[in-house]
Amino acid sequence: MSDARAVADRLIKAKRLNALLTPAKDLRKSLLAQAEAARTTGVLYGMPVAVKDNICTLEFTTTCGSKILEGYQSPYEATAITKLKAAGALIAGKTNCDEFAMGSSTEHSAYGRVIHPLDKARVPGGSSGGSAALVAAGAVPAALGSDTGGSVRQPAAFCGVVGMKPTYGRVSRYGLVAFGSSLDQIGVLGRSVHDAARVLSVISGRDARDSTCEDRDPLRLPTVPESLQGFVIGLPKEYFPAELDPAVKRACDRAIRMMKELGAAVREVSLPHTPYAVPTYYVIAPAEASSNLARYDGVRYGPRFDGHQDLHALYRTTRGQGFGPEVRRRILVGTYVLSAGYYDAYYRRAQQMRALIAQDFRNAFDRGVDLLFTPTVPAPAFKAGEKLSDPIAMYMSDIFTVTANLAGLPAMSLPIGRVKGLPIGGQLIGQAFLEDEMIEAAYALERVVPATDEA
Ligand code: GLN
Repeated sequence: MSDARAVADRLIKAKRLNALLTPAKDLRKSLLAQAEAARTTGVLYGMPVAVKDNICTLEFTTTCGSKILEGYQSPYEATAITKLKAAGALIAGKTNCDEFAMGSSTEHSAYGRVIHPLDKARVPGGSSGGSAALVAAGAVPAALGSDTGGSVRQPAAFCGVVGMKPTYGRVSRYGLVAFGSSLDQIGVLGRSVHDAARVLSVISGRDARDSTCEDRDPLRLPTVPESLQGFVIGLPKEYFPAELDPAVKRACDRAIRMMKELGAAVREVSLPHTPYAVPTYYVIAPAEASSNLARYDGVRYGPRFDGHQDLHALYRTTRGQGFGPEVRRRILVGTYVLSAGYYDAYYRRAQQMRALIAQDFRNAFDRGVDLLFTPTVPAPAFKAGEKLSDPIAMYMSDIFTVTANLAGLPAMSLPIGRVKGLPIGGQLIGQAFLEDEMIEAAYALERVVPATDEA
């Protein structure tokens, strides 16, 4: 199939973005072989899908953007990848990301930062920044990412593409390298709602290899609706604070007006525990990460760093040199909040707060709201280096996205306008396992919202 060659050319042309970790010649060779073998009857036949480098593939190495897994070849592949291939899709290389998916800018990669496709001084968001940048640059129609606290939706918003995070348990995590296991989900970035939705539908559904994956049929795609008649959209007032960037506010107001014009009923709701979401997330995610990352010790995976005399020194040199600063920070924080003396003060309280945050959402949905609409991120893409020395400022870019992970809900970002040429994303948060309703509303909104106009 000559198409495979064109796919490889498009990806290689996007090289300046540093979004792809797969070397050009490996990519070309693999794509040609995959195209030969692809199932012609599959619903995604011939569709190239780039894959974040924390998802295991047999075709390419899986480094998680880390030196500690440099050159690592997984002996098995993620269920999502098996399903994509069974549907005829082509695995179009591995995308650059923040190390172990920890970050909001894709500056924390051991392989260099990813460039925003519309402004080279800016970040594409993170941690699935490579996937978002390739979709935005038109190199692939869709890419897989992972979303632990917003890493699919936030870069989608920054790059002006669609990003979907499914309900926890909708998509198998088998073969997704674990970061925060109770929060992690594979998600999809696409150039349109339909491209993202069709890939999500293919990778969803039961998997005996992941006990947290629900025993459900794959997601069924809704049809594109004529209107939003019958939909009740909730606007959580905590997501529209007075200090919200005025252009983001204007773009949201315009999208809300359009949903009303389409027949939706819109009402304000309150999710009172929202202010605690970021601190809660930044206790739970590092706690789980510190446990999950204990396995990288220079013995079982990836390279072993020299300069050790005994076993402990081997661990120390490998982990000390193999992990970057953000990952080390998370391991330290996680180990601290789980330690005997601090467990009750931090970890247990964070778990209690997580339950309250999830209850806030249930209360809103119980009062008749079908979906929530919010900005995805408080401001458009920031400049590279701007938040690197201030981890808290970086963490605050997740303020509107971490809640869906803490509550296990489906959520997505779609482009709703621009400010000085930079994309702005609007977020829809749905009820558990009702991705179809969320996608339906997104289809309707996408048709009317001027995604590339200034807000
Ligand atoms: N930016 C968040 C973090 O750094 C979310 C990451 C993610 O969703 N993988 O943890």
